[in-house]
Amino acid sequence: MKKIISLFFLLTLTIFIQTMAQDDIRSKKLKEQHVSPKVIKSNDSWKKNLSPLQFEVSRNKGTERPYTGQYFDFYEKGNYYCSNCGALLFNSESKFKSGCGWPSFSDVANIKSINIVTDESFGMVRTEISCSNCEAHLGHVFEDGPPPTGLRYCINSVSLRFTPISEQKEKP
Ligand SMILES: [Zn+2]
Repeated sequence: MKKIISLFFLLTLTIFIQTMAQDDIRSKKLKEQHVSPKVIKSNDSWKKNLSPLQFEVSRNKGTERPYTGQYFDFYEKGNYYCSNCGALLFNSESKFKSGCGWPSFSDVANIKSINIVTDESFGMVRTEISCSNCEAHLGHVFEDGPPPTGLRYCINSVSLRFTPISEQKEKP
């Protein structure tokens, strides 16, 4: 009987630790974080370098219309950089077909390349992400993505610039 009790205790403890570990992974991914930007320009200066839609989305936190962006249904191999400052943000390995109408990624190339903040605009509570290098608005992150992260980074195409991996680089 004692053996069964200790076995039961051990099992409960294991489940508890596993749950804690999972929560820890989640909270690490979605915890608010802010890095001071390295690229700082005036609005006029950004306006000169960006298209009107790029400016509206990335500098005024706008959203491009769903199913209209350059990359929502695009699955070539390569990297996605910030369209405003050129910082690496995502790569094609984490891109997936979500059907939501915007480019969707399950992970970022480097968690330090984005700022994460709670966005309570339009009567919704969402998690906004922006480029940590220049503060360009990118999109939002939701907890309904595929494993292993369970996250869906829903990003505006105009905030991104895709560069294909050259065939030479793909060779081992
Ligand atoms: Zn940027």
